Amino acid sequence: MRLSLSVARPFGIDVRVHVTLLGVVALSAWRWRSFGDEGLLFGALSTVALFTCIALHELGHSVVAQAVGLRVREILLFPLGGVAQLEGLPKKPWHEFVIAIAGPLVNVVIAAGLWWASVETSADGRALRAALAEPSPTAAHFVASLMLANGFLAAFNLLPAFPMDGGRVLRAALSPLLGAEAATRTAATLGRLLAVGLMVLGAWLGDVVTVLLAVFVVFAGREEEALQRWLTVLRGVRVTDVLPTRPVVLAPTATLADAVAALARSPASVFAIERLGRLAGVVTRQDVLTAAKVRSDSSLVVDVARTEVPILAPTDVLERARELMHAADAPCAAVLREGILLGLVSEDELAQQAVVSARLVRG
Ligand SMILES: [Zn+2]
Repeated sequence: MRLSLSVARPFGIDVRVHVTLLGVVALSAWRWRSFGDEGLLFGALSTVALFTCIALHELGHSVVAQAVGLRVREILLFPLGGVAQLEGLPKKPWHEFVIAIAGPLVNVVIAAGLWWASVETSADGRALRAALAEPSPTAAHFVASLMLANGFLAAFNLLPAFPMDGGRVLRAALSPLLGAEAATRTAATLGRLLAVGLMVLGAWLGDVVTVLLAVFVVFAGREEEALQRWLTVLRGVRVTDVLPTRPVVLAPTATLADAVAALARSPASVFAIERLGRLAGVVTRQDVLTAAKVRSDSSLVVDVARTEVPILAPTDVLERARELMHAADAPCAAVLREGILLGLVSEDELAQQAVVSARLVRG
């Protein structure tokens, strides 16, 4: 069960809200309870407005990512902020640069817009400062604090440390000079320093949110580094180096019962179906098991096979396999030499390679 609710779908991107965020809205309303019903409404609306700005920030990343050819799976909002889940990685450093900078830019634009609106309506900046200094459930305080929050969002995210957007901007700038791995390491090291700083600050202020943010920075930074290391490994391994010795091949006349029997005999996660020596499709273990529940044993396995299979040459590297599988949303890719199937590369082989690379790095 997913603990998030879908709330909007701009540009075909699913925007989801983690259920714990509803607690944050309630808590924020509660903090303003001394102002009565008006206060409760104000507290709730301020938090909703803040997270709308965070969603727009993530949408900024997402729209630019789509423009440079990446798919965006979803945007998730949770109590510590938001994430846009991109499928695949930016192809070029400048793609990463524009995707990363787009988020904070959105907040700069919002802050500027709010500034303009409040100056237009209140004639001078002093009124704005006064509205900020005096917490009251008024439109002026709402606008002033939302403007400040957007300024903070832009500034904090532009810190040149992973996993902040500024860290990505820095990596994109350093990548052509140092290479992707060293650039990632630099941004991740700065990220760790930032985390330590946040941790000290949080402890000093006695602020739990700042400490949690520090923990988030540590974990997200480590994940980013691991991903980069994995990609470097995948780039160095040819698909033929990891192919299972022989692919498990089913005949086009094979039934579901035959396929289930093949599953029992082989640990393979994907099976090929060949017709006259040519690849006709693939089925995963899961495909066979799902079909076996709803179809009869005598139905043909080829009817539930996937026919769109990414094709690799024997000289391709695993990173290419990962890219093609992601792009086609396929569970595997077929390695062919002159039309003859050499084997299937599945998520299993990629995952195993990740384990091997983690060992190599740790050992
Ligand atoms: Zn961002």
